[in-house]
Amino acid sequence: MSVLKNLIERLQDLPGIGPKSAERIAFWMARRPKEDVKAIADAILETVATLETCTLCGHVAESDPCSYCADTTRDAATICVVETSRDLEALEQTGEFHGRYHVLGGHVAPVEGVALEDLNLSTLMDRVASGDIREVLIATNPTFEGEATASMLKREIGAHDVTITRIARGIPSGGEIVHMNAAVLGEALRSRSNFDA
Ligand SMILES: [Zn+2]
Repeated sequence: MSVLKNLIERLQDLPGIGPKSAERIAFWMARRPKEDVKAIADAILETVATLETCTLCGHVAESDPCSYCADTTRDAATICVVETSRDLEALEQTGEFHGRYHVLGGHVAPVEGVALEDLNLSTLMDRVASGDIREVLIATNPTFEGEATASMLKREIGAHDVTITRIARGIPSGGEIVHMNAAVLGEALRSRSNFDA
């Protein structure tokens, strides 16, 4: 396989990159000054070498446990469950939440064959079963998949003696947490309510 053909195939592993985009990026790289392309490659390698997945919460961070799990000033009895690390960072930007997090690593997607068990669920259930948790705030996206994930989570967690809340519906249905401004998101966190889906 030629070097270029290999690159084009590898690039297609990236989210949102199809064959046409992969080809365009590959030829762009072939024409660019070598230093520019090498800087991109170095950034990727540095990410691979530095980032870890927190074994407690699933957040992608520079340490394990991550800084949120290691921070003893945060309320360990409240867990905010999010789909991705990007959602965690967006919620953190609001400054409204002072508990711990749990990152599922995606959402339930029946069409793509992703079930609840395929997500980072077992460590969450361990945390809930420990008896140290008072509230689980479900902050999956208000999208079709996010809502389905929230309902299934509630069913799983419901057997335990914890309060289950959901971020407020003030955030537009179908919207995604990472695209909302901090003010709207902060309000959604403040006005969370008991989840009875
Ligand atoms: Zn963590």
